[in-house]
Amino acid sequence: MSDDLVFLYERSAKIYPRAVDGRFQRLRKAAVFWLLGMYYAFPWFNWDGRQMVLFDLPARKFYVFGWVVWPQDFIFLAAFLVACALSLFFFTALAGRLWCGYACPQTVWTEVFLWIEHHTEGDRNARMRLDKEPMSWRKFRIKASKQALWIGVALWTGFTFVGFFTPIRELALDFPMQWDLTRWFWTLFYGAATYGNAAYLREQVCKYMCPYARFQSAMLDRNSLIISYDETRGEPRGARRRQVPDRAQRLATGSAPSAAELGDCIDCKACVLVCPTGIDIRKGLQYECIGCAACIDACDEVMDKVGYPRGLVRYSTENAIQGKPTHILRPRVIIYALVLLTLGASVLLGVMLKKPLIVDVIRDRGALYRFASDGQVENAYQVKLIHKRETAATFQLRVLTPGLQLIAPANIAVEPGEVRNVAVTLRQPEDEAKGAKDVVIEVIDLGDASVRVQETTRFFGPT
Ligand code: SF4
Ligand code: SF4
Repeated sequence: MSDDLVFLYERSAKIYPRAVDGRFQRLRKAAVFWLLGMYYAFPWFNWDGRQMVLFDLPARKFYVFGWVVWPQDFIFLAAFLVACALSLFFFTALAGRLWCGYACPQTVWTEVFLWIEHHTEGDRNARMRLDKEPMSWRKFRIKASKQALWIGVALWTGFTFVGFFTPIRELALDFPMQWDLTRWFWTLFYGAATYGNAAYLREQVCKYMCPYARFQSAMLDRNSLIISYDETRGEPRGARRRQVPDRAQRLATGSAPSAAELGDCIDCKACVLVCPTGIDIRKGLQYECIGCAACIDACDEVMDKVGYPRGLVRYSTENAIQGKPTHILRPRVIIYALVLLTLGASVLLGVMLKKPLIVDVIRDRGALYRFASDGQVENAYQVKLIHKRETAATFQLRVLTPGLQLIAPANIAVEPGEVRNVAVTLRQPEDEAKGAKDVVIEVIDLGDASVRVQETTRFFGPT
């Protein structure tokens, strides 16, 4: 092979993160249990006799904790998504990649797959040894059990995903003979995506596929809380045989550090070995850092062992690390918070004032007007009633414009959540029905006088 040959693509080496325990890892575990618990359990719970969270696409209705989201309410859904994006900006400006470290689905499922790997193959060194070993019955058995667990979790994840769009109990009862192609496709597709991303792609998704990793630096500033290595305390780094006094002790005793004296970093590389993206936090903030805080726990463990104070790697700000004051309340944080609060309040208000009944009056497109057998002018309409309450109701229609007669069913019984089209006719004597005029049709709920909707439409007669 020629010496001049340059490869533009370098195959990345497999990362074997070492398991670590500590306060932040316990917090992450709690987040994983809580988030995945919600994901796997929610479709199995009922609320008001219906699946608690169900996105019923054919009926174009979403059921979320007893709240029915109709197509007309999708503005709230859009506002909710905007609020999520703003929260991401807000928390990133305030505390860096909290989302990536604790709540991102990629992180959460990768964590589960790593636990499975750890429990079947062992910790870092055991995994590395196993991968180097030639295939044997033992290796095959270990790898097969890991794969079986991974595939099981991935398929259950795919099944649950479909269970958010089709009643999950029905889905389980219909399995497998009554499953159509759509159910199979989405279960296998989402299962395969989970398997591929959490078992193999892992940090590659964060490094190369996630756009957030690229633009998050634009949201950070010197006052954002990030995971940082305290260079002033840690350097010059180096291995040592015996405990040397830390900087605080040196200052307390008044002894000046000698040129040969080392900082607190013993260069054990524990922070690197636990990193799921394989980076060295001591090189400073890097876009590959997902903010998992594993390096903090690993370094704290090392500091405890060598008898130095914890926090050589810690949550801090660039200003604080350099001994400058940190400002939490900054213009960008205040602006994000204000926009977020305004949006949240508007959505809340909108939900509270949400109309339980929507009325749409549609004119019959077939004819502008017609003459009834008694000579009166008639216009025909379809009145669409969208009853958004979860209880049955009876409605009555009437026309509020004087001189017009409304012909419609006397009482219209509507089931909870039903959309009903009612054929309606308006009549007027020919000598009064000249030209076009606005008319108002009112719909009232006979069981609840506060539900009363008026709609304006046009009535046409001969000119
Ligand atoms: S440097 Fe690595 S271990 Fe430390 S927070 Fe970032 S991703 Fe996690
Ligand atoms: S774990 Fe701490 S002491 Fe060890 S190399 Fe990392 S920063 Fe230095």
